[in-house]
Amino acid sequence: MNKSPSGFPVPPLSMPLGVAVARGRVLIVDDNAELVEALRGVLASGLPGLHIESAANGVAALDIAKKGFDVAIVDVKLPDVSGIDLIRPLHAASPLGEVLLLTGCASVDAALGALRSGAFAFVLKSFRPEELISLVEQAIGKVQLKREREELERRYRDLVEVTDVLVFALDGEDRVALMNRKAASMVHTVPEHALGRPFLEAWLPPEDRSGLRAAIAGTRAGLGHHRPHDVETGFVDQSVPSTSRRRVRWHLSCSPEPAGLVYGIGIDITERRALEKRAADAEALSAMGELAMNLAHEIRNPLNAAVLQLHLLNRNLDRLEAEASTRAALKDRVRIVGDEVGRLNRLLTEFLELARPRGIAREPVHIPRLIDEVLDLEAESATGRGIAILRHIPDDGCVAIGDREKLKQVAINIVVNALEAMKHGGVLTVTVRHAGESVVLVVDDTGPGIDAAVLTSVFDPFFTTKEAGTGLGLSIVRKIVDQHGGDVIIDSVQGRGARVTVSIPMGR
Ligand code: ADP
Repeated sequence: MNKSPSGFPVPPLSMPLGVAVARGRVLIVDDNAELVEALRGVLASGLPGLHIESAANGVAALDIAKKGFDVAIVDVKLPDVSGIDLIRPLHAASPLGEVLLLTGCASVDAALGALRSGAFAFVLKSFRPEELISLVEQAIGKVQLKREREELERRYRDLVEVTDVLVFALDGEDRVALMNRKAASMVHTVPEHALGRPFLEAWLPPEDRSGLRAAIAGTRAGLGHHRPHDVETGFVDQSVPSTSRRRVRWHLSCSPEPAGLVYGIGIDITERRALEKRAADAEALSAMGELAMNLAHEIRNPLNAAVLQLHLLNRNLDRLEAEASTRAALKDRVRIVGDEVGRLNRLLTEFLELARPRGIAREPVHIPRLIDEVLDLEAESATGRGIAILRHIPDDGCVAIGDREKLKQVAINIVVNALEAMKHGGVLTVTVRHAGESVVLVVDDTGPGIDAAVLTSVFDPFFTTKEAGTGLGLSIVRKIVDQHGGDVIIDSVQGRGARVTVSIPMGR
């Protein structure tokens, strides 16, 4: 396969381009008016339809050349410049044009010098008419081919850039030979910066690399059979792990020339996979079904009774006649039971919240006021943990349509997670703004951040890394945000905190 000067691989011409056959523009540069007329006559009779112009010196020639020419017939000896020195500026003025040098005396050195300077051919002034006609015809043919190739290249580039799919080509060492803008922007780069980088190491999560490597090898091995290989991988900017990791289904194929160039065409299937996963989660929850919900309700009543009894027991212990140390030990046990009962209660509340198929209210919710309320609620807990709260919350303008109580739950769950993450103090930054047709809430913490491997599971029901966690907080957040037609993303660089971004449509 050919490579254009821009490095863009051009597949062989296989479709008619429909480029109009240019009749050709010829520029004659010679100060001998008689010869110019003779050349005009020869060309006009041999190649009818040519557009012929002439110039008597280099300056005038360059002026005309700017309009574009196909072939320039240039006398080596011009009044103001050597014809050889004129070749480069002529090419600069009309890059596709070809230059024929015209000279009275031929020497091998002069001929070689002319060709080396980029001339198409060298013609003696004693030329035979058919010789000149043939050379000009060949030069025009060459220019037309270059023009067709440029057009073809432009069309392929448009095809690759305009299309909604992701495109890459890898060389024999799996380095990027081509990446379209859409693919590049997905991993926060531009095609020019992607060139030459090792594709797998740069943008594939480690767990997906061997799969793609095997598919590439298989594609290369099956070259002769033109058997395409399909493979699904993550496609990520590794520097910022995020829950919004894209999943892409790649279709690989290999072109026989140049050896080993593997093409990948990818379709972003992130949403599809996310929907499938949510459907599976919802199915799992509904499989637990009504029975589990009833059970949860049933457990709740005795639990509440147990809380009450523990409270009474605690008070009785205060009055118990026993050694202080015995009483303290007993009270400690009661406290442990109380904590566990509290945790069970929380689990039940959250489970019921997640499993209950209840609709949501649709009313205007003033998000800044709601967030202020939540932060006031958590202020004491934050102070107790040595955490400062920074609020970037506008007074108004950010009204979303939705369920106030549920959105409050979203904010509480996210803020509490952030506070719990900052075990040794830190800063909680909460920002509310509107972006397009949505209200956006961003919660940043300066905690330890979330490991890339953990990040893929944080929205899974019952996934927790905390000793007393329920693993339902973020599942509830996602369910509520989904119900509002919004979006939630978590980004985190390990060791540098986490950022949760929620957007809720304003529903205008
Ligand atoms: P829980 O808080 O009960 O564990 P969640 O669903 O709210 O359940 O959170 C799931 C997990 O996500 C947490 O156990 C924790 O590992 C991780 N996580 C959530 N938010 C943060 C955060 N701000 N910083 C670090 N880890 C977090």
